[in-house]
Amino acid sequence: MRKPMMAGNWKMNNNWAESVVLAQQLSNRYDERWEDVEVVLCPPAIDIKAVYSVLEFDRREEVVKVGGQNCHWEASGAFTGEISIPMLQAVGATHCIIGHSERRGYFGETDMDVNKKVKALLAAHMTPIVCCGESLGVRDSGDYIEFITKQVSAAFAGLEPAEVKKCVVAYEPIWAIGTGRTATPEQAEEACGAIRASIAEEFGADTADAIRILYGGSMKPANVEGLIAMEDIDGGLIGGAALKADDFVKLVEACL
Ligand code: PEP
Repeated sequence: MRKPMMAGNWKMNNNWAESVVLAQQLSNRYDERWEDVEVVLCPPAIDIKAVYSVLEFDRREEVVKVGGQNCHWEASGAFTGEISIPMLQAVGATHCIIGHSERRGYFGETDMDVNKKVKALLAAHMTPIVCCGESLGVRDSGDYIEFITKQVSAAFAGLEPAEVKKCVVAYEPIWAIGTGRTATPEQAEEACGAIRASIAEEFGADTADAIRILYGGSMKPANVEGLIAMEDIDGGLIGGAALKADDFVKLVEACL
């Protein structure tokens, strides 16, 4: 049985005070059943400490985890503007989103960068949430399954099966991110199933059975049920709906 995950990607929204308010609203809604879900909040890096402090004060930090939205693969050095993995860990982060389509599209992040980040996170015992997903152009070309599985294979290049098991994949079709246009459960399942099958081929059936695969792209309370009912979808990576406590709580509770 794979433990479902609901991860919130707050993107470049909320200053530290606004992040504290949202974290507190979520913490106030916590109930014990959340222990059956891996709940992860990924605020802007500068807000992580404040969010973690709210959770720690309320003794939620074992259940509600915090994560980065990006990291550098080097531990320190002359990389102006970057955030290292030890820095994320020092403020309580246990997870990190890697290779989000906005990082790839706006900041030129490559498959090779993603692979280096995955390896560095695993070496630091953090959980990489590795994003993949096709643009509308690639979908319309018909080659989207090949495109997505290649991204996943490149992210995991050189890893042992036991390491791949510790990662999480988030399938996020770019045409569904922030657009309000969600993939249908069948479209999302086709992609997530293909990702699992390609992991089975490369790293073995055990690894494919163990790894969590999330769907992301305009997931919200109104469409979550159909998506997470799918066999190969183990939860969600949530943008817009993660900024509203009510919506995010409903998404976590949909996993129970
Ligand atoms: C995301 O960017 O990871 C995402 C899924 O965004 P949204 O839920 O807003 O589509």
